[in-house]
This record gives sequence, structure tokens and C-alpha cells, in this order.
Amino acid sequence: MSEKTIAAISTPLGAGGIAVIRISGDDAVKIADKCFKSYSGKSLLSLKGYTASYGQIVNNETVIDDGVALVFLSPKSYTGENVVEISVHGGRIVARDALRTVLDAGAVPAENGEFTKRAFLNGKLDLAAAESIMGIISAKNETALKISRNAKEGRISKEINSIIERLLEFSASMSVYADYPDEEIDGLNPISFGNSLGEISCSLKKLIDSYDTGKIIREGIDCCIVGKPNVGKSTLMNLLCGSDRSIVTDIAGTTRDIIESTVDIDGITLNISDTAGIRKTHDVVEMAGVNKSKKRLDTATLIFAVFDISRPFDNDDLELINSLENNSIILLNKSDLCNNSQIDLSVFKGRKTISISAKENSGIDELKKYISDFVNINNFSDNDAILVSERQRDCVQRAYNCIFDAKNTLEAGYTLDAVGVCVDDCLAALLELTGKRVTNEVSDEVFKRFCVGK
Ligand code: GDP
Repeated sequence: MSEKTIAAISTPLGAGGIAVIRISGDDAVKIADKCFKSYSGKSLLSLKGYTASYGQIVNNETVIDDGVALVFLSPKSYTGENVVEISVHGGRIVARDALRTVLDAGAVPAENGEFTKRAFLNGKLDLAAAESIMGIISAKNETALKISRNAKEGRISKEINSIIERLLEFSASMSVYADYPDEEIDGLNPISFGNSLGEISCSLKKLIDSYDTGKIIREGIDCCIVGKPNVGKSTLMNLLCGSDRSIVTDIAGTTRDIIESTVDIDGITLNISDTAGIRKTHDVVEMAGVNKSKKRLDTATLIFAVFDISRPFDNDDLELINSLENNSIILLNKSDLCNNSQIDLSVFKGRKTISISAKENSGIDELKKYISDFVNINNFSDNDAILVSERQRDCVQRAYNCIFDAKNTLEAGYTLDAVGVCVDDCLAALLELTGKRVTNEVSDEVFKRFCVGK
């Protein structure tokens, strides 16, 4: 139990159906009872856990609002402590005044993520599950939500704990070996031990790889549509967005700034930027737009380079082709006006091209398939254990390096003590991931990223 009772508004600030003030700590019910007067006349202190009471929040005789107080008694609550959640009408001022009332009654303001931190410290969830809560709150698409929900339900921890169990068995066998070096110990035969280390190393590698795909799914891919003026960039942007996000005209140079939008394509979030057409120009405003487009080209993860195949390619097209890297897909637009056999594809030097008509909505399924392949989404199952933070990835990478060293040490014929050191380091990295053996600094760092009230 923590000595201080904390409180915060746990819902977003602003107009809404309800706002919830969450209070947690030994004195949560006592503090809530000081400022919450139930219409039934019953004190909150007399309530069992999981009980709601309808009444008023009162600060020094002034009624702030009427609302519902929900009482949870330790250990059956989110934090594992006594918790009261008071729902008032949603609204910035009401919520603020209700929180002030609770603070006046003796609670202290909660820090970022402090409720979840207390849940972690009280063994309600491990660090990997705690981290996934941020992912649930900020999920941009269904797949991202599912990944974070699975992590919250313990998918990552289950995988890591099964590896930890195997490593603990090796550690135990190695301790026996240290005492009885002449005995043959189960599992420590060099061949089977080496195979087991190999299997663990594969599982860890799979987890490391899961992070990159998971990250793309959670955060989306930064995509940039580039090409000369009038090739159909804005038409493509609008088609992908399903709305008129960019202005479409026959007048070259209409899009002068970067237009951004987020779209969901088959479970993949694309953060798309439609850029000013890249061409040589003396117009100062257009030139500024062209320079911005070129910069965006450098930072985008995926580039849709659009070409108008109804006209001959010119130097501006060729310059763009030469500047493209491997993260670009060439879109041959206006295929409704002309087909590939009528154009010289050799200028694209064997790069992958897709014929589309942004105006007639054709070729877009092939583009979607290309995007799925780029993300490697088909080799990915949202039921797999998928690491959800850079910290988790770092822990698994360290564990992987240690197993690699353990395997090399074993194969080089060193004593089992030397292999044991690597196995112990691997264990330490994995126990840090789940939070079973973690420093305060690391866990503080995790919870600092949370919002207040979570
Ligand atoms: P941007 O300057 O590259 O953004 O080009 P826009 O999207 O504004 O399009 C320029 C012109 O080309 C407009 O008149 C569009 O209607 C037309 N356009 C765009 N895509 C296609 C297409 O696939 N087929 C045809 N026929 N016209 C298109």
C-alpha cells in the first residue's frame, strides 16, 4: 500500500457525457466520503466493493454537481488499492471543481501513469502488460488495438515467461553440475543443450522482428505522393482518402503546400502527404512548395511516384526517376487514356510499376497489395506475441545477444560455468522486460509516458 492517496480526472478534458475523477490509496473511500453525500444517506464507508452510490459532490456546503460514486475495495480494483471513481457531468469546469473538492478533502494530485504504476507495483499486471495500455488508448486501427489488447492479456509475457522457465531449468541444472561435475546432468548434454539454445534464439529473433511490423501497424507508414504537376497526385490522394482532401484542377501548380491525411487501407494506417508538383519553376511560392516536396521525399517511408503516361516523359520526369530509392513504387497514371504498350518503360530501369487510373479508380487493388507486401503484413498474425515498445525490443535484443554468446561459448568448448554467465545475463534481460527484476528508474521511465489519470 502506498501512503498517499492520489486523485486525477481520468477522462479527456472537455464537453462530454461524463467525467470521471479517480481516487486511489488507503484513504480513497474516507476522502470520497468527506465530499460525496449520497441521496440514500448511506456513507460510502459502509459500502461493499463494486458498489455504486448516487449523490452529490459537495465542497464546503457548495454543491459542485450530482453524480455516481463507484467504490472498489483493495485488492479488487485497478490499482489493487482502495479506489473510488466519481462520475460527474462531462465538462471542463465541473470536472476541475470536482477534482479540487477531492484534493481539498485530502488526496494529492496523481502523476502521469501513477494509477497504472501502482497496479504494477501491487502485482495487478506486469510491465509488458502495463505498457500495452498506452497502445490501447492510442490505437489508430483495429489491428493495432488487437496487438495491444493481446499484450494486455499477457500474450508477450506468456511467451517471455516460457523462455524464462527454460532458462531457469538450465540455471538449476548448471548449479547441480557445479556441485557434481562428474555426473551426467539432464539437458546439459552439449548437443541437446546447443539445440535448446538455438530454439530459444529463434524465438527471440521472431520477437525482435515482430516489433518493426507491429510499429508500422501501430504508428502507420509515412507515405508521400510525388510527381510533376498535373500527373494526378491530388486525384490519387482523394481516391485513397475517399474524400476531396486535395484540390484537383487542370492548372499545373495548384497544390503548393503539403496536404496531409490519414487513411486506413486493409488494416494498415497510411499517413499520406500530397506534395506540390516537382518541376523547375521561377515562381517563388511554387519553388518553396517544390523544395518542401523534395524534403518530404527524404523522410517518407514509402513513396508513391506518379507519372502521367498519356504524355511523353520529359526531363522533370527523368530527374524524379533518378532520385527515387528502393522505397518507391512507380504509378503509371491515366491508364484509361493510354496503355503500357504505348510507352517506353525502359526509363524506369526495371523498377516495379503499377498502372492505375486515379480518375477511374482502377489498379488500386494492385497498389493495396503492394502496400501489404511492403509492410509484410501477410507473414504477420495479430495473435502472435508482438513487442509494443522500444524498451521491450531492447530487452529482447540483449537477451538474444546473450544466447548467441552462450551458444558460441558452448560450441567453442568452454566450461559450463562460462555458458552459465551468458544464460544468467539473458535471464536478467527478460526479467527486466516483464518487470520482475527492474530498477525504479526504468519503471519510472515507462510510466512517465502515460497521461495523468491513467
Ligand atoms: P496533380 O497536379 O498531380 O495533383 O494532378 P491532379 O490530381 O490535380 O489532376 C490533374 C488533372 O488530371 C485533372 O484534370 C484530373 O481530373 C486529371 N486526372 C487525374 N488522374 C487522372 C486519370 O487517371 N485519368 C484521367 N483521364 N485524368 C486524370
